[in-house]
Amino acid sequence: MRATTELIRESGLASIKRLSVGSKVITTPSYSAEIRNWNDLRIIERAKPNHRLDNVGVVSVSVLDAKTILGQQARTLMMFTGTERENKIRSDSIILIDPSMEYFSHNVESERERFLTFDNLPSFLRNSLYQDRISESDLSNEELSMKCMEWSMNQQMKYGADLPLPPCFSITGMKSLARALEMNRRSQTYAKDNGWSRCAYFNIDSMKIFQSEECVSSMITALNVWEADVIVLKFRGGLMPKEPIEMANYFTFFSKLNELDSRKTVILLNTDSFGYINLGLGVDIFSEPMNGLIDKDVRPRPSRDGIRDPYPTYGKYLNPLDLRWWKFSQLRSLFINNGNRLPCNCPICRSINPRFLAISPNDWNIPRREHCPICRNEQISELLVNIHDSNVKGAMFAKLASNEMSSSPLNIYKCWFS
Ligand SMILES: [Zn+2]
Repeated sequence: MRATTELIRESGLASIKRLSVGSKVITTPSYSAEIRNWNDLRIIERAKPNHRLDNVGVVSVSVLDAKTILGQQARTLMMFTGTERENKIRSDSIILIDPSMEYFSHNVESERERFLTFDNLPSFLRNSLYQDRISESDLSNEELSMKCMEWSMNQQMKYGADLPLPPCFSITGMKSLARALEMNRRSQTYAKDNGWSRCAYFNIDSMKIFQSEECVSSMITALNVWEADVIVLKFRGGLMPKEPIEMANYFTFFSKLNELDSRKTVILLNTDSFGYINLGLGVDIFSEPMNGLIDKDVRPRPSRDGIRDPYPTYGKYLNPLDLRWWKFSQLRSLFINNGNRLPCNCPICRSINPRFLAISPNDWNIPRREHCPICRNEQISELLVNIHDSNVKGAMFAKLASNEMSSSPLNIYKCWFS
């Protein structure tokens, strides 16, 4: 079944839309909780009804994690234990499964090993994992890329994806972009033949793409020709345009997306507060790992001052005031300076306040993750009001220019909203 997008209201590039995929209907802007394990799944499942998270409409998961969380074994286990959480999350959220093809060019051993556990992985992909990286001739071979596309899209559907994404290898420049465009084009036909939603997917590995007007215009030209219902973008962990030229072309890209003929839903995958800022630019849905954005491609680096983190197992916490993910040691100081209160007034944080200073990692790691979709839900509620009031630019500018945001790298984006 095809996804349809209906425009309800616009303010600048931001808009309120209704996205329907079969019987699932969500209002956008919406947040997608990115889940990586059973705990994340349990957390989002409990939080959605308990905190009425109407603006959390999507659950996204890497195909590598989907195998464990949504695969056959997980289903069998759930049948035995009598838990039907998978069905529950499936019935009220749009499920997005990321093909995660960047690991075929990035040598991240743990992720490569997980790809190897797929019995039906096409042999040329399997071989490329044993070698250093995927070969140029394999990537440009039409028959092999068809095999790869069929395998990846069918795998996503097997795990219950609502929007099958084309398997996009890392885009680092014009050459890899051309290959990604070709894979996208083929997948449109494949999705059409199967009666699926047609999605376009750009898995961007270098912001250099936005240094080139040619790259931007070739993406827009292609999107104009294809009849994609949904456009998905992913920037490798934490990447965002920073150079003036990148920012200018990035802005042009979104302006042009907004001018495309038919209504489409735009999704930004695997991001953080940068995704939230992008809702003001015309992104409709952004996904964020509930555990904070961890770039698996980067090996852990020793801290600059050589001092070991005294709280290595406490994870990070989304501070709704400056939109940054704070380390526990920083958050602890902030808590004390803030009169023994966390910088958030959600029910979860309020309940943690009295015991925060003595909290164990086990008691902290669930609520700190649960607090994240609650914060995002609240931020999107505010944005919905601002779109209704045609005040997105002003409200985003005020947010970015506030005192708390003064040290945030996101602050440079306030020029978009001025
Ligand atoms: Zn909170």
